Amino acid sequence: MDEDGASALCSSAVGLTLTGTVAIVGGGLTGLALAHRLHVAGRAFRLFEGRDRLGGRIKTTRVGEQWFDLGPSWFWPGQPRMAALIQQLGLEVFPQFADGAQLYETVQGAVIRDHGFASMQGSLRVRGGMGAIVQRLAERLPQACVETAHAVRSVSGDGVLVFANGDQHSFDQVVLAMPPRIAAALEFTPEVSTSVLSTLQDIPTWMAGHAKLVAVYDTAFWRDDGLSGDASSQRGPLAEIHDASADTGGALFGFLGVPASARVGQREAVIAASVAQLVRLFGPRAASPEEVFYTDWSVETLTAVSTDQAPLTHHPAYGRPATLVPAHDSRILFASTELASEMGGYLEGALAAADEAADWVLKGS
Ligand SMILES: Cc1cc2nc3c(=O)[nH]c(=O)nc-3n(C[C@H](O)[C@H](O)[C@H](O)COP(=O)(O)OP(=O)(O)OC[C@H]3O[C@@H](n4cnc5c(N)ncnc54)[C@H](O)[C@@H]3O)c2cc1C
Repeated sequence: MDEDGASALCSSAVGLTLTGTVAIVGGGLTGLALAHRLHVAGRAFRLFEGRDRLGGRIKTTRVGEQWFDLGPSWFWPGQPRMAALIQQLGLEVFPQFADGAQLYETVQGAVIRDHGFASMQGSLRVRGGMGAIVQRLAERLPQACVETAHAVRSVSGDGVLVFANGDQHSFDQVVLAMPPRIAAALEFTPEVSTSVLSTLQDIPTWMAGHAKLVAVYDTAFWRDDGLSGDASSQRGPLAEIHDASADTGGALFGFLGVPASARVGQREAVIAASVAQLVRLFGPRAASPEEVFYTDWSVETLTAVSTDQAPLTHHPAYGRPATLVPAHDSRILFASTELASEMGGYLEGALAAADEAADWVLKGS
């Protein structure tokens, strides 16, 4: 379908039955990559995203020419879908900066150089941040077919979506491209079986309980001291720290080690304690970041539910449970990285989930 045809279809009034059109609910990487595949295949779609931005767990903040990832930062060799997509979108890849010594902070606050920390050396970053993937994918879609700030409240077995604002649309097929636990909170008519509901609720959302902090400096001064920017800490509040510099200036990012329940309402205290920790580790020049960005994913209601607050002790064995295989005549498919048959949890898994959803739409499998 050409751009004009797609736009005309996507501009149609609410309340219509959009025959032949697929609704994609969720504009994270799974939903966007699925939309892209359907668009290329000439299949009409409409994508509805609840937030006022696309990307879901991908969130990149820009400051001038610099970019900082508050969600995923890395992909890895051996992830072919990510490598192919990044190349197709004309984006550049560069290795995670890892030259120099690593630091380890004991529970008492002693800082030890080059001690017991597995660096993310070999991980790959995208110039412009992971948000550049979102931006370039979105640019390749007919704009009228992608709507942000359109949270879906309920979905019926015959393909009717009801939005938070009360609008309704009917679709031939609906892909719920969101974490299973978030999908479980939708209203279903008729109700989904208790086994489907409990299966959805039992699948943890990868990284949903985490929080990430980025401190931005005028230079990557730790490199002058022979430090890579990698650190791990038993004391915290940051448990794991890495260089997050863009092409200019310098930045460090850390994952909070403080449990989600202890972070609630503590944003300013968490930021102050994190900067104090960066000073303990990297010296006085860390005391005055130009900017600090902090995202606590555990309080994002379109990512995390209460059961995601407990830290995961291992990477779950993700995949599509038998209870979530859609019946032959089903109009609804659950899809997200957590349901991918490969690399579940990762960005690569989101692309695998999008491929699997595209096969369901286009080939009926
Ligand atoms: C802090 C953090 C660090 C990470 N680091 C890495 C990393 O380095 N490498 C890596 O490979 N992976 C990493 N991940 C995981 C990666 O972000 C995910 O695998 C990927 O982004 C999942 O994409 P998705 O589209 O399946 O889900 P999501 O990104 O969660 O997208 C779901 C979308 O659905 C929307 N939505 C939900 N409910 C509704 C509704 N009712 N109506 C409309 N829209 C709705 C949401 O707003 C969201 O946009 C990280 C995640 C986090 C949080």
